[in-house]
Amino acid sequence: MTTAFIGLGSNLQDPLRQLRKALLAIAQLPGTAITAVSSAYRSAAVGPGVQPDYLNAVLRLETSLEPVDLLGTLQGIELAQGRVRTVHWGARSLDLDILLYGDRQLATPRLTIPHPALAQRNFVLYPLADVAGLNWVLPDGTDLGTLIARCPRGDLVKTGQRLIQDDTVPGDVE
Ligand code: AMP
Repeated sequence: MTTAFIGLGSNLQDPLRQLRKALLAIAQLPGTAITAVSSAYRSAAVGPGVQPDYLNAVLRLETSLEPVDLLGTLQGIELAQGRVRTVHWGARSLDLDILLYGDRQLATPRLTIPHPALAQRNFVLYPLADVAGLNWVLPDGTDLGTLIARCPRGDLVKTGQRLIQDDTVPGDVE
């Protein structure tokens, strides 16, 4: 089993519902257990035109799925939740990214791990820290606390909405 972190984002069609539904789908994946769930975070959209705010969260998993198989199943969940790939960086009902997969570093046309934008995105780093902790060390030796110190919180707001009501999975505790 490998510890992996998945970033979830949505800015269409009831984003909180989208994230909750995605969590339930990920919980059903073979060889995979969700071991922690971050808070939900809201931020203004980055990308073309005027778009609704985003809601983001991060899940911590233990999984025996290989990265490419994990990506395939996550893309299946995106499609099942109505995602249509049109405008790059456009609004979407659900975006699922593999942020980290153990100590693995990958750079293939289909998959880059760690996720290439991880270090620049406050809406990824802050929820990631909820479930990984600031002392988590990335494959290049940088710890999460260092990345967070370099990435201002900006307009990012922890909403207090929980993705899961059930207390069997640890959530972020204030
Ligand atoms: P996006 O539109 O941001 O969801 O980008 C989707 C594309 O990014 C997919 O075609 C994936 O093959 C590719 N990709 C590369 N690395 C990753 C990653 N770590 N997690 C998710 N998608 C990735």
